[in-house]
Amino acid sequence: MATTTILPDVVDKNDLLELYTDPDTCPTDALIPRPLAEEPAFVAWQQDIPREYLAMEPEELDQRIRTARATLGDQLVILGHHYQRDEVIQYADFTGDSFKLAQLAAAQDRARYILFCGVHFMAESADILTPESVTVMLPNMAAGCSMADMADPDDVYAAWDEIHEALGDDASVVPITYMNSAASLKAFVGEHDGIVCTSSNAPKTFDYAFDRGEKILFFPDQHLGRNTAYSMGIPLEEMVLWNFRVPGGGVDPEALKRARVILWQGHCSTHQRFSVEQIEKAREEHPGLKVIVHPECRWEVVQAADDNGSTEKIIRTVTEAEPGTAWGVGTEINLVKRLAEANPDKTVFCLDPVVCPCSTMYRIHPAYLAWCLEGLVQGHVTNEIRVDAKTREWSLVALERMLALP
Ligand code: SF4
Repeated sequence: MATTTILPDVVDKNDLLELYTDPDTCPTDALIPRPLAEEPAFVAWQQDIPREYLAMEPEELDQRIRTARATLGDQLVILGHHYQRDEVIQYADFTGDSFKLAQLAAAQDRARYILFCGVHFMAESADILTPESVTVMLPNMAAGCSMADMADPDDVYAAWDEIHEALGDDASVVPITYMNSAASLKAFVGEHDGIVCTSSNAPKTFDYAFDRGEKILFFPDQHLGRNTAYSMGIPLEEMVLWNFRVPGGGVDPEALKRARVILWQGHCSTHQRFSVEQIEKAREEHPGLKVIVHPECRWEVVQAADDNGSTEKIIRTVTEAEPGTAWGVGTEINLVKRLAEANPDKTVFCLDPVVCPCSTMYRIHPAYLAWCLEGLVQGHVTNEIRVDAKTREWSLVALERMLALP
């Protein structure tokens, strides 16, 4: 992979994409600490980071982060998502999946600042769940989520209207949004008697919705929606896929009337890489292998696996497994690598040998942490995530409905 240490004054992202993006390779084998300017995440950097941070070596960044962190003491909490790279997650006070981190954010009653090492929608949820006096920051504002971006709020509002026009007076639809969505969509479901879900509690949210309506509109991840509905006994024939790019979602009106679940045509680019062929190959190579995958994987992959569940469930299942067992895991590579290191008495590997890390999580580089923390030491807040009052009010309703589930 090409790298550069010579920094032009004006950086053209297209040039950098050409430098760092090779469709035949993946940075999995290149996940090594290096200056921000020398790695793939640089293609999606936040341009206003002071240039002095770009070329800093990992050792200098580490020392500066630790010094600033120590100065800030308990007025700061750093939250880290499991998919973060090692050289970032090492600074987290708490780690977890999006559900656990949402709970942890809500539980912070002493910190004035939360530095959220995750992606944009997670930092928004942390802001919604914490008192107004708490400031939430995201180290790199370019750290979004490609799945969340597939549900543009205007497309969802338009789909809601079209579905109700098609169903007429019989419409009885409850919206569920996956945690991986914009705050405005969480507010939308809050206002429409719906609920937020995570991969940990999706079946409970389906029960919640079916207690209140006949159909569910589930967005943005079609796979989590389909896998959840199927696991609850709803056949594939009673689900339709809403293509937000075409009028009427491309759904036959009669099929829409029969459907119990309307799935948004979104997906996670990281989890969609896993395939049945990978599972079959892994089983051939490792007799007795157990396979566990994330429910953001395709339906046929989940069906071919022995088990599926949230990131927290994957960690728990492998950790509690018998010594000597072998596990093929279908989720993000940084998590799988750490799981393998934490379980040396088992064989643990990622089902996709060249799987990419979550490319948006990967945009959080230690240089951004150093920038945010040193700014705070000097009294500046960098990259504050602040959800407006009306969005906050209704999204909090939807999130609290989720957190109140038994
Ligand atoms: S792993 Fe997928 S769903 Fe999760 S943040 Fe990355 S792109 Fe979004």
